[in-house]
Amino acid sequence: MLAYASPLRNQQGAVVVMHDVTEIRRLERVRRDFVANVSHELRTPVSIIRANAETLLDGAIEKPEVARRFLDAQLRSADRLAALVADLLEISRIEAGTYEISPDEIELEPIVAHTIDEVERLAQEKHIEITSDVPEDMTVWADEQALEQVLLNLIDNAVKYTPTGGKIVVRAKKRDDMVRIEVEDNGPGIEARHRARVFERFYRVDKGRSREVGGTGLGLAIVKHLAEAMEGQVGVEPAEPQGSLFWLTLPAASD
Ligand code: ADP
Repeated sequence: MLAYASPLRNQQGAVVVMHDVTEIRRLERVRRDFVANVSHELRTPVSIIRANAETLLDGAIEKPEVARRFLDAQLRSADRLAALVADLLEISRIEAGTYEISPDEIELEPIVAHTIDEVERLAQEKHIEITSDVPEDMTVWADEQALEQVLLNLIDNAVKYTPTGGKIVVRAKKRDDMVRIEVEDNGPGIEARHRARVFERFYRVDKGRSREVGGTGLGLAIVKHLAEAMEGQVGVEPAEPQGSLFWLTLPAASD
């Protein structure tokens, strides 16, 4: 509570105005945490790049067999920085309201097929089979670019977190005036206590694992923002008998 009190001029007593500032304080804390998280996330790859450059200059450059290792780590850190900066720009663009959402009637099946193609190489490397079960005539009311980005994040996560030999299914069903798109994998799944939080910025179940697969911790936060901007919703449930089922609802395109 924030209280302002003024004494009354000619009488005893005072006027007190009280504001409930819970929400303002919560937002301030979220912002502070976000800045602290961003700084921390940026610091790690920068220090690896710096330390390796120093080691190379100190003489490692003369030994090609070790030099390659240091350069390789630098390249991976630079990629990580690039991914982080790209996701941060995306989040700030969405939050500042400069990400223009222009919804239109979109055929779902070709977009799903195209998105699966984008992750196909990584899926093949891990012998993961991705199947699409989306009716050919299904249409949604969505922004094409935003929808593609949402699907790519969800399918890419499924490929990243599902172990070798796994299976992923992308399906869509119509329910009243909404379309529900599901991305189901048979990977490790997400425990209930983490499930509600994975859409928060930088929330990761296993930090080490996320770093290993090149994650930034921002993908699902972007997904949630974009889904909501398109008047949709997202969520995650456990898959049966094992795995995760991420779902997205969007308005169906009506006549
Ligand atoms: P990241 O860049 O770390 O993948 P995301 O925001 O995309 O960040 O996801 C947040 C976290 O949710 C991940 O770090 C991971 O722990 C968990 N997660 C996301 N998708 C899956 C999935 N399909 N299976 C298991 N865990 C997942």
